[in-house]
Order: sequence, then structure tokens, then C-alpha cells
Amino acid sequence: MTVCTPGKNSIRRNLVRLLLAGNSMLLIAFSVLTVGNQAFRGRQEHYREVATLGERVIGELSSPLAEGDLDAVREILSWTDVDPFLISAELFGRNDRLLAQHRPQGRETARPRLSAIRMVTLPVERAGRPAGRLVLTWRQPLFRDLAFPGVLLALALLALALLGVTLSRRVKTLISDPIGELTGKMEIVSKQQDYQVRVEGLKDDELGVLFACFNEMLAEIEVRDERLALHSEELQLEVAERTRELSNVNRQLAASLDDVRRAMETAQAASRAKSEFLAQMSHEIRTPMYGVLGMTELLQGTDLSKEQSRFVETVRRSGQALLSIINNILDFSKIEAGRMELEIIPFDLHELVMETVELFSEDASKKGLDLRCEITGQLPRDFQGDPGRLRQVIVNLLGNALKFTHKGSVTLLAFMERAPDIVRISVTDTGIGIAPEAQQLIFTQFSQGDQSMTRKYGGTGLGLAIAKQLTELMGGEIRVASEPGKGSTFSFTVRLDSGPEKGWVRPEHSRAALRGKRALVACSDPGTSEFLGAQLKGWGVDYEISADGPGAVCRVVSAPFDLAILDQQISGADGTRLAATLRSLPSGRLVRLVLIGNPDLASLIRDGEEGGLVALPKNELRPHRLYTALVKALGMDQTAGEPEGVEARRTPPQVLLVEDNPVNQEVGRGMLESLACNVEIVANGLMAVEAVQRSTYDLVLMDYQMPVMDGLEAIKTIRDWEATLEGDRKRIPIVSLTACAMAQDRMACMDAGADDYLSKPFTRDELSRVIGRTLQGGSPGRPAAGEQASQLIPEAAPQKPAPAAMGQVPLGHPSPPGSPVDAAQARISASLAAATAGSAPSADASQPIAHDQMSGALEMIRSLPGNRGKEVLRKVVDLYLASTPTLLQTMKEAESGGDAEKLKAAAHSFKSSSANLGAMRLADVCKELEALGRQGSTEGALPLLVRVEEEYRVVREALQGGRI
Ligand code: ADP
Repeated sequence: MTVCTPGKNSIRRNLVRLLLAGNSMLLIAFSVLTVGNQAFRGRQEHYREVATLGERVIGELSSPLAEGDLDAVREILSWTDVDPFLISAELFGRNDRLLAQHRPQGRETARPRLSAIRMVTLPVERAGRPAGRLVLTWRQPLFRDLAFPGVLLALALLALALLGVTLSRRVKTLISDPIGELTGKMEIVSKQQDYQVRVEGLKDDELGVLFACFNEMLAEIEVRDERLALHSEELQLEVAERTRELSNVNRQLAASLDDVRRAMETAQAASRAKSEFLAQMSHEIRTPMYGVLGMTELLQGTDLSKEQSRFVETVRRSGQALLSIINNILDFSKIEAGRMELEIIPFDLHELVMETVELFSEDASKKGLDLRCEITGQLPRDFQGDPGRLRQVIVNLLGNALKFTHKGSVTLLAFMERAPDIVRISVTDTGIGIAPEAQQLIFTQFSQGDQSMTRKYGGTGLGLAIAKQLTELMGGEIRVASEPGKGSTFSFTVRLDSGPEKGWVRPEHSRAALRGKRALVACSDPGTSEFLGAQLKGWGVDYEISADGPGAVCRVVSAPFDLAILDQQISGADGTRLAATLRSLPSGRLVRLVLIGNPDLASLIRDGEEGGLVALPKNELRPHRLYTALVKALGMDQTAGEPEGVEARRTPPQVLLVEDNPVNQEVGRGMLESLACNVEIVANGLMAVEAVQRSTYDLVLMDYQMPVMDGLEAIKTIRDWEATLEGDRKRIPIVSLTACAMAQDRMACMDAGADDYLSKPFTRDELSRVIGRTLQGGSPGRPAAGEQASQLIPEAAPQKPAPAAMGQVPLGHPSPPGSPVDAAQARISASLAAATAGSAPSADASQPIAHDQMSGALEMIRSLPGNRGKEVLRKVVDLYLASTPTLLQTMKEAESGGDAEKLKAAAHSFKSSSANLGAMRLADVCKELEALGRQGSTEGALPLLVRVEEEYRVVREALQGGRI
């Protein structure tokens, strides 16, 4: 930047300008005043001169005027020429008449530039009396004497200019030059950062002080600069030092990070190895255990002396205990390795809790303990979560409670801790209690409350540690409150997702005993029917609902059912009477009954009096109770609630066992043969695929881990091969045998197409149940129970006229083949099949009641000994006549309201009831109406309804007239 050179407005110029301008103005003002004053005074003086001249003229005029000599007058007037500025002299008489005048030649024209006309009037007297006046006019120059002052002024101004120049020079020397020097030095400082320059030649004035200050300031800056430089040098040294230190630290850090990374990789590898080891161990430990336990079980089935039996039993119990410890350790390691996976599946919490408590009821009663289960009303039933793990925690707490309690009670309480997802379950006992200091320890692994107790009660001290980890995995916590000698309360919470939508079907693998059964639900309350239907569907039961008593009787008469669930308050009949009616029917005798009613119902009905009749109070209508009641009514094994074993079959099933381990092959063979199965064994998946393609088996038991081709691959290959088959070759049931405890392995097998799975090691009972369950069928996509049965037991097939026939005879209670009941049933089934399939032989259209058509159902009733047949027949007819008007009315309403669905349902019911009685013409018309409804229309129903009414009238008359 160039601020150092002064521009037009330098101090010097400004000072000189100021000086000159001031002085010039003063000079001019003074000159103006002087000239003005002079002009004024000149004018006054001139006036006086003119007046005096006039006076002199007037004095000379008196005689020529008296003589009237005007020439003389004029002559006298011309005397005024003496004044060089006078331009006229005029004499006026008394009457203002111009008497004479004089105008000097050339004066008018030669007038000066700046002048003014002036005039003076003087009176003229004669003899003391006014005789006229003299007027003198002159031109007054304004600046007559201006030349001199002008010159003076010019000179003064010149002098002033000279003064200015001199002043300017002086100012330059005194101020501008030193300031310029200062500016130059400053420029050097600012541009070159040279703080050593100094301003020289200091004078004894203000500028000298300024320069001295400037020099001092520079000196100060110089010192500071030196100090700064020194400091920055120190800083640089320090920074260099720190940088060195930092890079050292960085190097160390990088080295440590490398160490950590290596350590982490090692740890991860170790953890992976641990998990893999676990998975392997799961297989390796369980497989020999499978051998030990299996062989022990087989050994128990042989002829043993008492002592040998005791020894074997001890081996079995020790093996079981060892297995449970191994399971615990595996669970614990899995949790530790972060490999514990929780399932999220829908389940009924009430059922799970009650079932689990029931597992302990036998132990409790043996010990004389009161085992209670309380579920508060607000706790919903349906949740989603891992029921298996939840059960494991409850089992642990209940097991401990029973183990450490010798008298009193054990109570499980389940309630909603915080809606909608936190559930609390507590187990309270009146046992030995736990000392306060031990309460802190028992949730850590391998810790037990009192070491002396360990010897007395046994245990690994892992149960509660696992329970704690599991509850935490399930989003809850576990705690204990206890007083030694008084008892303990263990309580835990879990977070559970709310259950799936209404109407979900229970998981396939629970409650398989009822799969494939046929049930009739006789209930007019829609809510109860819906509940029963959903449950039965979940258990794989094929069910029908009849909303009134007569309809129920008709259905039982005509269709084979294993079970009937009767509501005591059913419309059109009393449930108890309905049950009695059904029992009086030949086909009804085979049907197992469950009667749902008042709480006192159970006391009214003596269970088993008639066999297969079980009462279930309505207030206890819960899935678990219902299931137990149904199983009980069917006379099945209730302890496990599972289906009966395979021994119940009449023909030995062909089983292909796919297993590579020779011990396991032996165990498997032994178990299967003891279950009356024909066994063929292959050692890997590939051989299994070939065997399945070559021969026919009723069942394949497929191991998971095998050489050449593993179980998963083999299942997939078999299913793919089956998909390419044509004709009626059936899908072969496959049960996968998994030693791995991992949930995903089981799921993988099921996804690949396995029908069921069995965790190794398994007991003979478990194997029996799973085979029984699988051979009964019931899973989606598989053949129905009856079809399966005819395929597996070829010689039984001809005896089963209808597909559902197998289901009517509960597995545990086969009717003796060829018995009259069997034959009658076959006839009824044939009749039913014909009627419901609509392929009935064309009835004798002229007959309202076709005897040949009804014979299947009613003929048999009629043929009952004595009056019994007629009685029952009468009842059936009465029930028909009582229920049909309502159906007719419903059909009419459906037609007028355009409700196709209602029309279909009512027509179907009417059709079936009528066909049962042999009223085939009526049934045919109803069938047409039903077909109309099925198409979603009621159009054209009216003429059909008219025909129904006509036919019905005829049928009714026939029935009332006893013409059947
Ligand atoms: P264990 O398999 O040894 O029973 P747990 O982890 O289940 O292991 O229990 C640890 C310890 O906690 C037990 O050994 C016992 O001392 C104590 N304990 C657990 N439940 C109870 C109970 N209901 N009453 C008294 N003591 C109990």
C-alpha cells in the first residue's frame, strides 16, 4: 500500500492555502471599506462644491434678471462649466417656466462608466422675494479615485502570494519533510518488518517528541521481538520433545492394538472353537448316552434276576441323572458362548403352566405335599415366546421346591406383572428355606445353599444359574425370598409377545393323541362352539358342529364319530338326555362322550358307569382340561397326554432306520423290534434314498449327522423324488433323529420335509409315541388317517368301507373284527357315504321314505331286540320332527333375506337329517337348495322351497303315521 506519499491535500499545501485565503479576504474587505468611504466623502464634497457654485451663479444673476437680459443670464449659467461633471444648469421662473438653460457640449455622451445623475435646486430671490429656482444637474462618478487603492490592493496581494510561497517552504522544512521521513521509516517497518530503523535529527519541538516516541516504540517492539523469538525457539524445542514422546506413545499404542487385535482374534477363534466343540460334544456325548440308556432299557426288557434288575435300574437312573447333568452343562455352556437361541412360537401360557405343574403331581402326592397352581384371571392365555425354555425354568423351580420341602405345600402362582407383556411366575414352598448369605450365591453356577445339603440332596448347582440366564434372555429377572425353616419363594418375570390372531392353530408337535379322530360337537352356543372348534382343529381332530340335539342324533346315527362333545344346554334337548339317547343307539355306543355342563354335573354322572362318558364343568373349560377329558373319554394313556404307542397297531410296520453309528444301530434295532416293528438299517442318507426308491416303508427314522449324505440332504432328496411321482404312491413319513440340541437343526429338518423329530437319546416310550403319532398322520399335506391305515394294513382295508372308518375305532379300543357292531357300522358308513356324496342309488321317487335307503341307519335300530329298537326309532323320529320346522323356517328366512350362506347351512342340515331317515326325495330337493347356496345365490330358491314343503308334509305324515 502506498499511503506514505501525501496527495493534493498535503499539510503544507493546506496550511499555505489557509493562510493566503485568510489574508486575501482581510485585504479585500479592508480595500472595499476604504474605497466605499472615500467615494462617500467625495460625493459630499462635490455636492457642496456644486451648491457653492450655484450660490455664486445666483448672486450674479440678480441684475441680468432684473434687466431681463437672458443672454447675460445664459452667460452667467455657462460659468458652471468649471465643474467637469455638470451636465446642465437650468433657471426656472416663479411659475416654473424655464427661463434659461446651459448644457456643456459633449458631457452627456462622455460619461464615465460607473456614475449616477445628481441634482441640486437652489432658490432665486429678488429683492428678498422668491423669483424662481436654479437647478444644477451633474453626473457623479462613483469611483473617481479608485486607481490608487486598486494598485495598492494588487501590490498587497502580490506580497501576500510571496509570503505564502515562503511560508510553504518553511512549513515543508519544518513539518512536511520530518513527517515524510517518519512515514518513510514507518513504511520500512511495515513492509520489511525491520524494527531497527530509527528517525534521525530530533528537534526540540512536537515533532521531535513524536519521533522520539516512535523510536522508543520501535525499540520496545524490538525487545519484544527478541523475547518472542526466544520463546518460540523454546516452544519449538518443547513441541519437538512432545512430538517425539507422542510418536513413542503412538508406536506403543499401535503395538498394543495389534496385541489386542491378535488377542481378540484368538478369543473369537477360541469362542468359535468352543461353540463348535459344544455342538460336537452335544452329538458326541449324547450319542454314547443314547447307547447306554437304550441298551439298559432293552436289558430291562429281558429276563433278569431280581438283583440284576436292581443293578440295571441303578444303571438306568444313573444314566438319566448323568444325561440331565450333561444337558445342564450343555445349556450353560451354550448360554455362555452366546449360542442359546430362543424360539418365538405361539403357545397357551395357562396350558403350559398347568401341564408343567401336573408333571409334579405324582411326586407331590408321594411326598404328601399339597401342590397348587393359581393363575389369575387377568393373565391372557395366548402368547408368543419359547415355551420350552419357560417350562425349563418352571420345572427347575418346582423340582427344587419339591426336593427341599418335606411337609406342607408348594404353590405356583402366575399373573400379569405389567400388561401387556411382563408375566410373573412364582413358586412358593414351605420347605427348609435358604440362609440369607446363601441366597446371594445360589444363582451363580456350581453354588449350592449349604454344602452339607449337597451330600444329602445332590445336584450340580447349575439349575438356578441356568434359570437366571434363561429368564434374563427372555427379558426378565429372577429373585428369591426365603426364611430358613419356613420356606422359600422363587419368582421370575419374562417378557412375552402377545399371542397371534384369534383362531391360530397350535404347534403341530403338541397334543398329538387326538390327531385324525372324528368328533361331533353338539352345542348351540356360538362362542363355546367356536372355542371347541379351534381347539379340536389345533389337535388335528376332524370335527362337525351340530347346533341342536336332534341334528346331533341324526349325525351320530349316520356318521362314524370317535367322540361327541355335548353341551348340557343344547337347544332342542337336554344334554344329559341327549347323551342317554346317543348311548342307546348302536352306533352311539361306540362314540365316546364328553358332557359339558354345570359344576355339579360331575357328581350327577358316575364316570365310566356306561363307559366313555366324561363330565367337564363349563367353568373348567380350558384347553388343557378339555384335552385331558377327551383323552380320558377315549380311554387313552393320560399320563403323557400323548398318543398311544405303536404297539397298538395290528400289523408290524416296516421301518427304515438310517443311522451310521453301529451302537445306535443296535439300540435302534432293539427298540424297534421290541415295539414289534420290522426294521431295515442303512448307514447313510444316500443308501436311505436308494432304499426308499426301491422298497415301500411305513416310516423312515433318519439320523441327522451321517457320512456320504447327511439326514437333511436325504430328506430333501426323498421329498423331491416323491414330488416327481405319479399315481397313488403315498408320501412316506420321516422322523428325524437329532442329537444336536440346537433349535435350528430341528427346524432345518422340519423345513426339509421331516414330519416329526426325536431328540437323542430317546426312550422306548418316546420312540413308540412318535411312531404312533406319525403313523396316525394328520399333518397338512399327508394322507388322512383312514387312507394311511388302509395303506399300512392292507388286510384291514376291505373291512373299512369309508375313508373315515378307521378313525371311528379308537386305536386303544379296537372292536373285535367281524363283530355285529362292526358290520352294522360298516353298513351305516356305506349309507352315509352314499347319502353325503350325493351318489345315492336313485331312490324310489314315488316313495316319501325309501326304505332301502334308510335301512343302513334305521333298519339297524329297528332290528334291536325287543321294544328297544322301536323306542329308539321313535326318539329319533321325534327329534327329527322337532328340529326340522326350525330348519325349514331358517331356509325360508334365508331365501327372503337373500342369505346364501344361511340357506346352504340349513339346507345341508335338512338334507342330511332327511337322508338319514331315508327321505331321499326331500333330501334331493334340499341338496339342490344347498347347491344354490353354495354358489352364493338364493335366486330360484322359492320354487324349491315350495317343493321342500310339499315333500316334508308327506314325509312328516309318513313318519307320524308310523309308516317307516
Ligand atoms: P441344584 O441342581 O444343586 O439343586 P440349583 O441351582 O437348582 O442346583 O440350586 C442351588 C441351590 O439352591 C440348591 O443346592 C439349594 O441349596 C438351594 N435351593 C434352591 N431351591 C431351593 C428351595 N426351594 N428351598 C431351599 N433351598 C433351595
